[in-house]
Amino acid sequence: MNDINVDVLIIGAGPSGCVAAAYLNNNGISCKVVEKNIFPRFVIGESLLPRCMDHFEETGLLDCLMAQGFEIKSGARFLKDNIVCNFDFSKKHTPGWDYTWQVPRADFDNTLAKEIVNKGVDVSFGHEVVDVKFNTNDEDINLTQGVGSSTTTVKDKNGTQYKIKAKFIIDSSGYGRVLPRLLGLDKPSSLDANSAIFTHVKENKRPEGVEGTIITFDVVRDNVWLWVIPFSNGVTSIGFVGPTSFIESYKGTNSEKMKEMLKISDYYYDRLKDEEFLFEPYTIKNYSKAVKQLYGKGYALTGNSAEFLDPVFSSGVTFATESGLKSAKLITKELKGEQVDWETEYTGYIMRGVDVFRTYVKEWYTGNLQKIFFHRPENPVIKEQICAVLAGYVWDETNPFVKNHNRLVKTVAKVIDMENERLSE
Ligand code: FAD
Repeated sequence: MNDINVDVLIIGAGPSGCVAAAYLNNNGISCKVVEKNIFPRFVIGESLLPRCMDHFEETGLLDCLMAQGFEIKSGARFLKDNIVCNFDFSKKHTPGWDYTWQVPRADFDNTLAKEIVNKGVDVSFGHEVVDVKFNTNDEDINLTQGVGSSTTTVKDKNGTQYKIKAKFIIDSSGYGRVLPRLLGLDKPSSLDANSAIFTHVKENKRPEGVEGTIITFDVVRDNVWLWVIPFSNGVTSIGFVGPTSFIESYKGTNSEKMKEMLKISDYYYDRLKDEEFLFEPYTIKNYSKAVKQLYGKGYALTGNSAEFLDPVFSSGVTFATESGLKSAKLITKELKGEQVDWETEYTGYIMRGVDVFRTYVKEWYTGNLQKIFFHRPENPVIKEQICAVLAGYVWDETNPFVKNHNRLVKTVAKVIDMENERLSE
């Protein structure tokens, strides 16, 4: 095969890569997507946030998704010790989308990928990036930014290798983490070592009405929770998340472990105990990932290839699309001759949102956020402000729970502690 020349090479056709490709294509930038798998393929990450609807809308990918009839997610329910905390996305501080979807990712990602192909993007499925060389004759690529030049080696499904020359690479390879691995960019996550075990069930005893369709996070121990994500096709995704030591404390096959774990959910045990797992549960251990830098000369990292926090607030796909879109916008500006400051416009912007969610994840596992969620009576103003964060609107600094995320969650939890102490005196 002859070498290929493009302006932008995108590694991975997940949501991050598809949104990036759609934007570039809409703006007349030549791009090519290389995807290791043949779609549809399974991936975890099935609960979306309203914020990502903005990204699909802006890139012209919303209509194809609307046509799929995915289960509507108009909020989220958290359960603990018989207390219910319901967030309703129509009651949130920040204006924006008040619903999104609960999606089987095989179908969702396949819809996005097919749509970018329909729009004229060149996508090679079953082609894996195996090596990348940046052609630098100047400074260390790790210290510079912007348009560069690179030669990527790709292996197709027959094992034949070919090269792609690109001015810029958007690495949207998810847990493939192509450039972090090749350039040694990984760094330890600042979050606790947590793991997950999950599968799908075809529900025979799904309750009628909202109870059957609502997404729920059932807190079964202070730091262990079960997700229940019903899809519109009658299948429900279930998964346990907790400290790696907790997940590893169960013995047997993954199916045996999950059957045993279901017993600790008072709320869901009866509904789920007899349901057959549609596949042997997967485990992902120590899933949190971080990198030393989000860009360099000739590349940007997006989505899970850059940073992954935790599934508890379903922020993964939204950050994947936010960063995919932002990187595509910046490289478009540069290729059209405008100056871009990647440190401020990319890292600064993305990390502002990531840092808000990082606080919420940390404070979930310290118990402070759970104190606020499950305190009664609820404070409606605080609830609307936190709801905007949970909807993914984490760049809105008019929201005190965004602007002061570092101290506000702790402060409110402290006030609740003091109130509880006073009441128990
Ligand atoms: P992906 O969707 O993973 O896509 C990356 C693509 O790159 C893949 O198709 C892969 O085949 C391809 N690729 C990899 N290596 C190569 C290579 N060498 N060459 C070519 N192609 C390659 N997020 C949510 O929003 N909601 C949730 O409810 C949620 N739950 C989660 C639960 C768990 C247990 C975990 C671990 C994560 C969860 N996430 C969730 C996170 C979510 O999975 C990711 O954030 C999201 O899928 C990232 O999208 P992406 O486009 O960056 O990567």
